[in-house]
Formats: sequence, structure tokens, C-alpha cells
Amino acid sequence: MSATLISGKEISQEIREEIRQRVAELKRARGLTPGLATVLVGDDPASHMYVGMKNKAAKEAGLHSEQITLPGSTPQDELLGLIAGLNANPEIHGILVQLPLPDHIDDQAVLVAIDPDKDVDGFHPVNVGRLSTGDPDVLAPCTPLGVIEMLVRSGYDPEGRHAVVVGRSNIVGRPMASLLLRKGRGGNATVTVAHSRTRDLGAVTRLADILVVAMGRPETITADMVKPGAVVIDVGTNRVDDPTRERGYRVVGDVAFDEVKEVAEAISPVPGGVGPMTIAMLLSNTVDAAVRMADRMEGAGAGA
Ligand code: NDP
Repeated sequence: MSATLISGKEISQEIREEIRQRVAELKRARGLTPGLATVLVGDDPASHMYVGMKNKAAKEAGLHSEQITLPGSTPQDELLGLIAGLNANPEIHGILVQLPLPDHIDDQAVLVAIDPDKDVDGFHPVNVGRLSTGDPDVLAPCTPLGVIEMLVRSGYDPEGRHAVVVGRSNIVGRPMASLLLRKGRGGNATVTVAHSRTRDLGAVTRLADILVVAMGRPETITADMVKPGAVVIDVGTNRVDDPTRERGYRVVGDVAFDEVKEVAEAISPVPGGVGPMTIAMLLSNTVDAAVRMADRMEGAGAGA
């Protein structure tokens, strides 16, 4: 048997088209243009590439998009001042500060400075807390949110299934588990979280109806670790040496794709799986943030 492919590339295109239509309608019906600000400090080439892709996608979807690039020597206070300005800017509904930041800047101090209502990355402790208490309307981290969309849209609703998440990072594993556990669309799973101290990882992953892997360890989940008929989502993005490629490496996931696809019912590839979903969910979060802000303003106006 060869598994069905869950293509994040295709699903993300579908979502981006839906967002484009939603943004056009918001402009027409409410005069509202959702706005995203991306902030980049320093000249890390990978970060420049990611921020460039996010801005391009935002513009293509019809969002107002501002990219702010600061030199690597920017003092923390100056960055905090810039964020305060974006918090107060009514044209901006989503603020994303690209990580990692230079060593002299405290990541956490910057993340907590972002207005939680504009925190489209979902990393602010207020949003982390809201997600872990099951809030259906919270801005949640984009990568795990993308995994939920992949599952639901390809017909593998997690409801009632046993989901095993491998990884407990704040960016992927923990919010992934919270989203799968949450009541409502894309949630209601029975959730187990595994990590580097888990004894006999294979015994745990073999319990999964839905297996989400975010370890950062190339091709570690092998066929014998997967229950026949399971749905496997591979978040891992790892570079491995490959002298046959011109660039000298290839990108692989945390799952040994070729063998696991023979036992799984469905599987996401790397690349072309979770990666493209992350940007789509960033746009989705920005539009959601804009609509909630506009609703609140209208509510406040009506009450005045
Ligand atoms: P982290 O390194 O922060 O976390 C990795 C997690 O995997 C940890 O919880 C760790 O356990 C666990 N782990 C490591 N080794 C093992 C093992 N042998 N057995 C069981 N668990 C293990 O990584 P991230 O969560 O940030 O990212 C995970 C992967 O996802 C990476 O490849 C990353 O590149 C990719 N990624 C992809 C994104 C996308 O858009 N496609 C976005 C974000 C990440 P412990 O906590 O005990 O150390």
C-alpha cells in the first residue's frame, strides 16, 4: 500500500485564495484592509528570505504589508520603541518579529512587548495561556495551526482519534498538543506528547492514529514505529549532505518518508508539506486579528 499524500503546498494555495477573497470582501463591505508588519533585525540570510516570503504572500493576498529592517546593532530599547509604535498604529493588525534576534536583545522582552491582540505568531504568554486553557478565539502559533488545517481539509479530523505529538517545543510541540486537545474544529483528540526523555519512543508512536512529528532529527521515525493506517504529519525540516545535488544538501523531514508511506494511510511530504502552511496561517491570523479589532471598535462605538 502507498499512502495518500497530504500536500501542504496545495492546501496552502487553497487557503491563500480564500484569504484573498475574504480580504477583498472586507475592503468592499467594511473598508477594512488587514495590515501586517514584519520586523527583521540584522542580516541573517535565512531570516531575510523568510520575511521576504511573508511580505510577498501578504501583498498577493491584498493585505497592507510593511517590512521594517533594522541593523544588527539596533539597541533593544529602540526595537521596543518601534513595537510600541506598531501597537498604536491602526493600520497594523499583525506584528511579527522574526527570530532569532541578535544576542544582545532578549527575545522574551520583545515578544511580551507586542500587543497580544496583534501577536500573529501566537508566542505572547497571554496567548500561550489562552491556548492552553482551550480558548477557541486565540491567535495560535502558525505552524501547528497549519497542521490542523492539513488534517481537517484532507478528511482526517482529529476528533476522537489518538494523536501522538513528538516534540514539546514552545513553537511546535506544545501548541500542537493544545490545539489537538482543544474543543471544537480540528480538536477533540486524545493527545499524547513524546520528547527526548520518552522511553521506547516506538511503543508510543505506534499508538497514534494521527502522528505529528516535530523533533528536528532527520528521518528518525521509521516504518516499524508507525501503526498501519495511521496519518502522519512531518513538521521536521532538516538539511542533510547530498553530494549528488548541486547545492550539496537536500531537505528531509523527521520521518523516513519512503518506508513510512508504505504503512501509513496518509502522509505529508518534506518539502511541500507543513512548510508552506505556516505562511498561509500567518495571513489567516492577521485577517482574524483585523476583524476582531474592527468588531471591537464597532462594538465600542455602538455602546458610546
Ligand atoms: P526543538 O529543537 O525546539 O524541539 C525538538 C523537540 O523534539 C524537543 O521537544 C525534543 O525533546 C524532541 N526530541 C529531540 N530528539 C528526540 C528524540 N530522539 N526522541 C524524542 N523526542 C526528541 O525544535 P522545533 O520544535 O523548533 O522544531 C522541530 C522541527 O520542526 C525542526 O526540524 C524544525 O526545523 C521544524 N520546523 C518546521 C517549521 C515549518 O514551518 N515547517 C516551523 C518550525 C519548526 P526535549 O524537549 O526533551 O529536548
